Amino acid sequence: MSISPEILARQLARETHARQQAESLLEQKSLELFHQARQREQALAELRESEERYRLIVELSPDAILIAVDEEIVFANSAARLLFNETTANGLLGKNLLELTTEQDRSKAVQELQRVASGGRCIETEELAMRLDGSTFSVSVQRVALTYQGKHAAQMVARDISARKQLEHQLAHQASHDILTGVPNRQRLTDILEQALRYADRYATPVWVGFIDLDRFKFINDHYGHHVGDHVLRTVTERVRSVLRNGDTIGRFGGDEFVLLLHGAQHEQLNAAIVERIMDAINLPIVFDGHHLRITCSLGLATYPDDGENSQSLIEHADVAMYRAKESGRHLCQFYTAQMNQQFVERNQLESTLYTVLDRNELQLHYQPIVNLHSGHIVGVEALLRWDHPELGRIPPDRFIPIAEECGMITKIGAWVLQQACMQCAQWNAAGLGPLRVSVNLSVRQLDSPDLVANIATALKQTGLPPSLLEIELTETLMMTDIDRALHLLQTLRKMGVRVAVDDFGTGYSSFAYLKRLLLDSLKIDQSFIRGLENDHENQAIVRTMIQLAHNLKLHVIAEGVETDFQLAFLKQWGCDEFQGYLLSQPQHSDGTGALLSKHQSSLLIT
Ligand code: C2E
Ligand code: CA
Ligand code: CA
Repeated sequence: MSISPEILARQLARETHARQQAESLLEQKSLELFHQARQREQALAELRESEERYRLIVELSPDAILIAVDEEIVFANSAARLLFNETTANGLLGKNLLELTTEQDRSKAVQELQRVASGGRCIETEELAMRLDGSTFSVSVQRVALTYQGKHAAQMVARDISARKQLEHQLAHQASHDILTGVPNRQRLTDILEQALRYADRYATPVWVGFIDLDRFKFINDHYGHHVGDHVLRTVTERVRSVLRNGDTIGRFGGDEFVLLLHGAQHEQLNAAIVERIMDAINLPIVFDGHHLRITCSLGLATYPDDGENSQSLIEHADVAMYRAKESGRHLCQFYTAQMNQQFVERNQLESTLYTVLDRNELQLHYQPIVNLHSGHIVGVEALLRWDHPELGRIPPDRFIPIAEECGMITKIGAWVLQQACMQCAQWNAAGLGPLRVSVNLSVRQLDSPDLVANIATALKQTGLPPSLLEIELTETLMMTDIDRALHLLQTLRKMGVRVAVDDFGTGYSSFAYLKRLLLDSLKIDQSFIRGLENDHENQAIVRTMIQLAHNLKLHVIAEGVETDFQLAFLKQWGCDEFQGYLLSQPQHSDGTGALLSKHQSSLLIT
């Protein structure tokens, strides 16, 4: 069967249409594809660009940035390489991230990584980081979790804070240490002591607290200047530090006061050698700025747990013991006893009432006659201070004069003594009981006072006592501690015509050369040599030598503390010039002494 041409033409037309449709669809689709490809290419380019930008930011960041997958470092920027001192680009790659953290901070770092991995907020921590060579430094660190090349990763951003830490450390040190000497200050000392006490409680070991006060430091400061005083403080601290055992501490409590913390083993007693070493170290000569100085100290000790239950009471009690050491003559060490506390309270009571003692007329002078052994006449009296305290009764001068020296009242009291003694002596001379001289004792602090010479001149002028009838007594130790000042003072006194005696001779360390240069008039043999004269052949020899020595130096010799006929006879036999002592009379008030003087005016006391 043949197909009509019409049908064929229609069929062809249909097919042509379908092809045309298909072609147009194809064209459309390929256009779409082309667009999509272009878009993708563009997006890829953008991505590449943004990645490059990110890489640049990360690479050039001043903070160290490290990325780790399963703790293994897979990326480190140049700041990280610089921070951790790794010069090669790959130096850090492949290492474990935790290798860059010190042992002490490692568990903290692990915890932090886990915390951020489970979605924790990113926070900044301060840690001690470690370079691969083992050196350490302080960093501030931030850790975050992220995806790196499709894997879970951790990023660490670190910054060097060593400089800031060092500054903080310096500031903290300054706040807790004494600037001049560099040792712990009062606050820090208390903290260290508290820690030491906790340790002592746990292990039942003793702790000793020592309180050191330098003797006569004020004098050094006042007379040689603060720069010398500062040098002394630094030197003393350094020397003590060098003799302390490991773990023991010296701190500066203030001024010239230092506190020691000494540790002991169970049942251990404080080793005397340690204390000796410390005191000897302080006593070594100090040569500075042309001055030759010799420092001594007084040291008080309190033991934990016996003498105090906390840092405050231990330091206080060591301080009390130090005061006692000072009162007993300086350059001494003294352990605290409960009894001292009572005495300390009393001492404070004395000090607080001492300021107004003159206003309340509680002081009086007693006089002890001095007899010439050649003529048998009373030729002088020594003025000796007494304090009648309203509550504590009569206080001997040995107790209150050191306190008056410390609180500065001695200058006023000394001036009063001079005035009073000169007046009394002038009266006795005017009453025809003379010629009679009066001996007045001077203390260290008076010697330091610029008013001393003026006070003496005023007393003489106002009372009319001839200067030759006033004898100033200076102890041997006092003269020898500051020879230059003593020399200067003695020259001035000599010009005024006032006599000078060296008191308590034999208890200090006089050099004969100085004794000669000092322009003295008399030498008073200390009563400790007279006391045992009866049975002590050594003392007999010493006293004989002292008399001879004095005479060779053209000095007048006075023996004090003469209590027995034997002593008197001995002194007379060996040519001693004068004596005083209970054998003739105890010191007594002016009425009693006046009566004694009248009674013996014509009669010889000894023959
Ligand atoms: P000192 O200058 O050595 O005085 C002698 C001391 O020996 C006095 O003690 C006196 O009472 C005592 N004494 C006298 N004869 C005998 C005796 O036969 N046997 C005994 N056992 N003792 C005797 P006092 O009055 O207690 O004075 C003690 C110290 O106080 C004095 O020692 C002196 O250093 C100081 N002192 C006294 N008055 C003053 C003063 O006005 N100013 C200063 N700065 N110190 C003074
Ligand atoms: Ca005296
Ligand atoms: Ca004396």
